[in-house]
Amino acid sequence: MTPPPPASPAHGANSPAARDIAHVLHPYTDQKAHREKGPLIITGGKGVRVTDEAGREYIETVAGLWCASLGFENERLVRAATEQMRKLPFYHAFTGRSHMPMIELAEMLIERAPVPMSKVFFANSGSEANDSALKMIWYVNNARGRPQKKKVIARKKGYHGVTIASASLTGLPANHKLFDLPIAGILHTETPHFYHEGRPGESEEDFATRLAEELDAMIVAEGPETVAAFFAEPVMGAGGVIVPPATYFEKIQAVLRKHDVLLVADEVICGFGRTGNYWGSQTMGMRPDILTCAKALSSSFLPISAVMVNERVFEALAEGSHQIGTWGHGFTYSGHPVSAAVAVETLKIYDEQDLVAHAAEVGALMQRRLRERLNDHPLVGEVRGVGLVAAVELVEDKAARRNYDAGRKVAARLVALGEENGLILRALPGDSIAFSPPLVISPAEVEEMVEKFGRAVDALSAQLRREGLA
Ligand code: PMP
Repeated sequence: MTPPPPASPAHGANSPAARDIAHVLHPYTDQKAHREKGPLIITGGKGVRVTDEAGREYIETVAGLWCASLGFENERLVRAATEQMRKLPFYHAFTGRSHMPMIELAEMLIERAPVPMSKVFFANSGSEANDSALKMIWYVNNARGRPQKKKVIARKKGYHGVTIASASLTGLPANHKLFDLPIAGILHTETPHFYHEGRPGESEEDFATRLAEELDAMIVAEGPETVAAFFAEPVMGAGGVIVPPATYFEKIQAVLRKHDVLLVADEVICGFGRTGNYWGSQTMGMRPDILTCAKALSSSFLPISAVMVNERVFEALAEGSHQIGTWGHGFTYSGHPVSAAVAVETLKIYDEQDLVAHAAEVGALMQRRLRERLNDHPLVGEVRGVGLVAAVELVEDKAARRNYDAGRKVAARLVALGEENGLILRALPGDSIAFSPPLVISPAEVEEMVEKFGRAVDALSAQLRREGLA
C-alpha cells in the first residue's frame, strides 16, 4: 500500500487540513492539486456569511452550491428537525406507506406549483429527481404502448446532475467524455446564449426563432415518434447563468406541443424565489408537464428533492401499474420525514417573510450594482442574470467577446483574490463567476459583496497587466 503523501508544509502534521488531505476524496476537485493546496475548512455560519477555521469571515456569494437560501443558521429549521426526529425519525413511502411531513409537503408544493400539478414524488438530490423524471417518462411511454418514443433532448451547457442519466442530460463536455457519457438516446440542442451564439445582425428574438427552428429540425430528423421529452432549466445555472432571450420558451414550447414532446422544467436552482418569482418557470413563461426541484426546497439544511407531475403524466403512471406492472422506482429515503419536516418549515418561512418579493427586490439591486460596477471594466465581457442569480464573464478581448485561454485559469485566480477580499466565489465554465447568494441577503450586504468583488476584479486586472496579459 502506498502511504499518503506528506501534507505540504503549510499544513501541520495532525491539522484538520492534513487529515482532510490524507482521507477525503472531494467532489469536483483536482485531486492532485488538493494535496498541495489543501482544503478551505468552514467551521460555522451566520446569515450570508461563513467562517473558516482561522476565524476569517466570508460572504457566501453562491449560498454554498446555489442552495442555502435562508443562509447558514436558522433556529426554526433546527426545531423542525429535532421535533420530527423525536416523533418519527424515519419511515418510508414504498407500497403506500406514508407519514404526515411528506403529505403536508406534497400538498404545499402542489398548492404553489406554477401550473396545475397532480402528484409529487420525492428523492434526495437534484440528480435523483432528474433521473426519476426520466424514468417516469420512459415508463409512461411503455404504458401508453409507444415504446419507441424515448429519446430526450436537453441543451448544451445545461446542468442536470451527475448520476449516469442526469449527467447524460447535462450538456457540459467535462461531464461526458471522461465518463463515457452520454448514454444512448439523449441529444443536446444549442444553448440560448445570445452573447456568444447570436449572429451578427441577428436580434434576440430572431435568435430565439432560429433555436426553435433548430429544435424542430432535430425532432423531425430523429422522428417525432421517437422523441419523448425536453429538459430545460428556466435559467441555466452551472453552465454559466444563461438567461434565454425574449420569446425563447414560447417558441420552444410551440415546437414541443407540435410533436407531443413533454417539457421538464429543472427548477433545482431556479425554484423558490431565485429568479424573482416563486418559480423560474413563471419568470420564463414555461408550462412544464414535469417539474424537478431540490436545494432551496429545504434551504439545504437536509437533502431532499421533488418531482411534480401533471394529471396526464400521473394518469399514465396509474394506468401503467395495471397494464405493464407496478411503478418500481423509489429511494429508501424518498420523502424522508425529517427532511420533509424541514422543507415544510422552510416553505412556511418563505411565505411568512415574503422572501420571494425580497429576492426580487435585492435581486434587482444586485443586477444593477454589478452592471454599474463592471459593465465597462476592460476584463468583463458580460454581466447577466435575473432576480438573485447572475454571472460576470471575464474576457481577454472585449470587442471580439473572446475568453482567455483556459490554461490561464483567470477565473480560478479571481476566486483566490475573492477569498483574500472576504468572498467565497464560484467559477463556472467559460470564465464566468456566479452570484447566487442566500435569499435573505440585505441591500447593505449586496453593496458590500459587489464592492469587494469589484476590488478583486481590479486586483486581477492589475496582475494580468503586470504579466502583459491585459
Ligand atoms: N439540476 C440543476 C439545475 C442543478 O443546478 C443541480 C446541481 N447544481 C442539479 C440538477 C443536481 O443536483 P444535485 O447536485 O443535488 O444532484
